[in-house]
Amino acid sequence: MEHRLEAEVQLSGRIDPPERLGELLAPLAREAIERTVGSRGRGEMTSWSLAGDRLSLVLETEGARPHQALLALARRLGEELGRKLHIGVRSFRAPSYRVRFVVDPAPTQPITLPIPSQLVLDGTSATLELTDLSEEALRDNWMDRAVTLVLEKAKRQSYAGKEQYWSLLTASPTKEPRFQGDPTEEMLRRLWVRSGPTKGKWFLGPTAAHLLKTMERIARQEILDPLGFTEVVQPHHDSFDILLKTGHLEGLPGEFYYVTEPRTRDPAAWERFTDLVKLTRRVPEAELLKMVSPPSAVSCYAQCPTIYWWLSGRTVAQESLPLRIYDRTAISNRYESGGRHGLERVDEFHRIEPVYVGTPEQLLELRERLLERYARVFDTVLDLEWRTAWVTPFYLQQSGGVGIEDAQARIKGTIDFEAYLPYRGTREASEWLEFQNLSIVGDKYTKAFTIRGQKGELWSGCSGIGLERWLVAFLAQKGLDPDGWPEAFRRYAGTMPSEIRFL
Ligand code: ATP
Ligand code: ZN
Ligand code: MG
Repeated sequence: MEHRLEAEVQLSGRIDPPERLGELLAPLAREAIERTVGSRGRGEMTSWSLAGDRLSLVLETEGARPHQALLALARRLGEELGRKLHIGVRSFRAPSYRVRFVVDPAPTQPITLPIPSQLVLDGTSATLELTDLSEEALRDNWMDRAVTLVLEKAKRQSYAGKEQYWSLLTASPTKEPRFQGDPTEEMLRRLWVRSGPTKGKWFLGPTAAHLLKTMERIARQEILDPLGFTEVVQPHHDSFDILLKTGHLEGLPGEFYYVTEPRTRDPAAWERFTDLVKLTRRVPEAELLKMVSPPSAVSCYAQCPTIYWWLSGRTVAQESLPLRIYDRTAISNRYESGGRHGLERVDEFHRIEPVYVGTPEQLLELRERLLERYARVFDTVLDLEWRTAWVTPFYLQQSGGVGIEDAQARIKGTIDFEAYLPYRGTREASEWLEFQNLSIVGDKYTKAFTIRGQKGELWSGCSGIGLERWLVAFLAQKGLDPDGWPEAFRRYAGTMPSEIRFL
């Protein structure tokens, strides 16, 4: 048959003679298969043997996989043996579990799994064998997860190197740039900003800080306040639990800054470390590693995961929908590595993240209001040359429900806002800067965090207003001299701080 599960069941006592077990086992196995595989396929226990207190058996099925049948069988066997022979089922495991499935398209590269396993591919037909599965692994559906993982890896291979889907939605008129330089270079030259002291982080002096805060004021007064968003203040560390739920932990482990804790606060325990610092005037790295715990959280990557955590398990009253909140306190940290450039791609950035929860209709309506407000700011306050695009990661395109080509179906998904950066080259050939985005994610997070309304389905979404990106987009087009800035922006900026003179 398609699937074969070899199991070992540890009993609490010996059964003599083995035939006493045989009478019980065969009907229980039939019952377990009937209850779990049922109409989805068929199956049978093809062999069994008993050595003292250890029962070995083989379940073979077609259609549904047989591990649920094993769980059901072990439970019923425990009940019946207990009742009739005062013997229990202590534990069970699977020395070998083999399943067949189709991988289409066929993988082009080898696929490996980090658990004892063997994958044999013959065109699009795959045979996966997991060996030495514990009871916990069987209960936790590892086989199903392993199959999903193989399919996902094969899919990724087939999309490798392909861009994310991008389709233009709107474009502002072209605007004559008032500046051609790289604004970060110019800010460095004027000592408005300084790079460091650690990777990808910047110190903004009073002038640059004033401009960044001006952007924040504009976003709040022009967009968030009028649309009824209210502010929350969230912690700066994201727990692993939260990131497991959102999928960030499996999606982006190479982009986090991890948080570790001291193993102890006791100065005596740190004595060797402090002595080494005093003697060497260096960081004693090996000693430090001994004194801190493995990472237990990450520094905020995006704000919405912790906002969803705040709402988790709660039912939002009808009158509070659509729920509209934003955080501007947690600072985002990302390990950008080779991609770092200027203030536009940094490892630490300041972002306002509005999050909204409501019925699908409420969110579609809110998206329209947000788009109108954003457009007003970019057209009249910042006077930018900008455009929007509908974007979807390539691997999501085929999965349905994300509406790619059909504009009517574009409900769930992300809109990127991009600005032309004259210093990067022509409009046509250069890469524009994504300076913010806006998403509706459907019920993905409301489900994951069990956030309910009084009636009907609840959806959610978020928008990432990257303040450094707003600033770079603006300065790259308008330059650093207030004379080149639009009147509305100058009003928001008010009196610029007097620049500190350095000799
Ligand atoms: P990119 O494709 O440019 O890396 P992203 O898709 O990773 O951006 P999101 O995760 O969607 O960005 O974050 C939302 C917003 O946060 C972005 O639109 C941008 O304004 C800002 N942002 C993201 N990464 C950075 C960064 N490294 N430096 C500055 N701002 C950033
Ligand atoms: Zn978000
Ligand atoms: Mg990124």
